[in-house]
Amino acid sequence: MKILLWDVDGTLIRSGNAGHRAMNAAALAVFGLQDAFTNFDFGGRTDPWVLDLLCQKHALDASPAHLTRFYEVYVDALRRELHNPRALICAGIREVLASFHTTPGIAQGLLTGNIVAGARVKLEHFGLWDYFAFGAFADDSGERNRLGPIALDRARLHLDRSTLSPSDLLVIGDTPHDIVCARACGAHAVATATGGFTYDELAAHKPDLLVRDFTDPAPLQRFIGALG
Ligand SMILES: [Mg+2]
Repeated sequence: MKILLWDVDGTLIRSGNAGHRAMNAAALAVFGLQDAFTNFDFGGRTDPWVLDLLCQKHALDASPAHLTRFYEVYVDALRRELHNPRALICAGIREVLASFHTTPGIAQGLLTGNIVAGARVKLEHFGLWDYFAFGAFADDSGERNRLGPIALDRARLHLDRSTLSPSDLLVIGDTPHDIVCARACGAHAVATATGGFTYDELAAHKPDLLVRDFTDPAPLQRFIGALG
């Protein structure tokens, strides 16, 4: 059994900056900050990490109630902001998810810096949410590198396979953070140049498999086949 753990932004979908605008809306509503996230680099970061940075930058003393409200406003705004012409599913993704969904010996989950509610809104928008029965999210930890072992536990529980090991995992993402996250938990690192990093930039971080996109699923299929 092999477990594909997909990142969301830049890997499965592109939100057309819906995430940025929704974060801005939440920062305005909850903290009164205008355009708070405009120059932030979200790539490969988790939502809590980004929010933490904002609080540090503006010396905000955010209470749990503030954070709850922030994410409520964020998710509502996200739902609206995804209706923009630049929001899209990355090339080949719908087909590759559908194909692996019915491939024996493969299970698909999420490993993402999104909070689960945000990931769900983004993927439901494109009709992709139902491909994923489990995952690790920013609600579980603000540190992406801690999400691999959590995803492994969820996969074991969901599939009722306690023998699954890190070497059964493929962490698939569009940034060097995803590659580091895969290394941190002993998973295979698969990188795709559909997000904010070019093929050559990702190659410098030596993922185990690097693709330009998933329009041709054969390289990933061969890679999985070679794992045995
Ligand atoms: Mg990403």
